[in-house]
Amino acid sequence: MFESNQKTLNKTINFLGTGLHSGKKVSINLEPAEADTGIIFKRTDIKNNNEIKANYTNVSSAKLCTKIENDHGVSVSTIEHLMAALYICGVDNLVVKIDGGEVPIMDGSSIEFVEKINETGLKILDKNRKFIKINKKVELKLDGKSISIEPAVDSLKVAFTLSYENNPLIKSQTNCVDFKNKNLENIYSARTFCLYEDIEKVKSLGLAKGGNLDNAVVIKGDKVLNKKGLRSKNEFVNHKILDLAGDFMLAGMRVIGSVSCKHGGHLLTNDFLRKILSDRANFIIVESLKDISNLKKITSDQKRIAVNA
Ligand SMILES: [Zn+2]
Repeated sequence: MFESNQKTLNKTINFLGTGLHSGKKVSINLEPAEADTGIIFKRTDIKNNNEIKANYTNVSSAKLCTKIENDHGVSVSTIEHLMAALYICGVDNLVVKIDGGEVPIMDGSSIEFVEKINETGLKILDKNRKFIKINKKVELKLDGKSISIEPAVDSLKVAFTLSYENNPLIKSQTNCVDFKNKNLENIYSARTFCLYEDIEKVKSLGLAKGGNLDNAVVIKGDKVLNKKGLRSKNEFVNHKILDLAGDFMLAGMRVIGSVSCKHGGHLLTNDFLRKILSDRANFIIVESLKDISNLKKITSDQKRIAVNA
């Protein structure tokens, strides 16, 4: 996913499913798009102003899921697991046609998206990717949660710590992932999860109407209620890393940096992207990672030009 050229899908693929929060049936088509399109959602159930760019500036809500909205109030929610699949598979350009307001939850992870995208294959486009390369440490702390990013050589690394001290099964989990690795199955197969005692609370907020044991891990005390148990011993923290990758995809370019996050979620990640990208001193834009080895030279040349100007 850090190769030089932009990519799209070889051909259109379709998914049918149910929205986790709305409980509504929905169909999505992932359609190939030309270079520099980015990821665009298009609501086919709405006639006008129905396009929403998948960008961090369009995030209108990040409560339990990530929702994007355009200037006309048209929105799509729960985009994060699809965005994470696009991140992991290396897709840059796509039109996502959707006939409702929420991306289907599938099995609660990104595995169905990833497998079908890999099976369909990608088309390499004749244009370079651009990367956001972090220049210096940036940090954000909020209500006992924290996230930071530091420079990295050529990939996105994520160290995540999750803590549910009152739950005897989850307790505290930490995992560290380099997204340059080829085998990320433990990440993209990790499902969304919730505590049994929180279900009524979430449902009373009008959320999780489509939630069930086929699309979420439910934990009661020290037991997993799903018949087949967990997919990996770190499934909870692995899912948080998956969410973070999906939310980072909304930067519009792949970020090169080393992230460390404690107890974060969609809201913290979105606030953090806004903080990083609001200050040009935090990053540089690189065209193709082949250029990175030349970066020192380029930046020192730029400095020289600045001094001469
Ligand atoms: Zn999630």
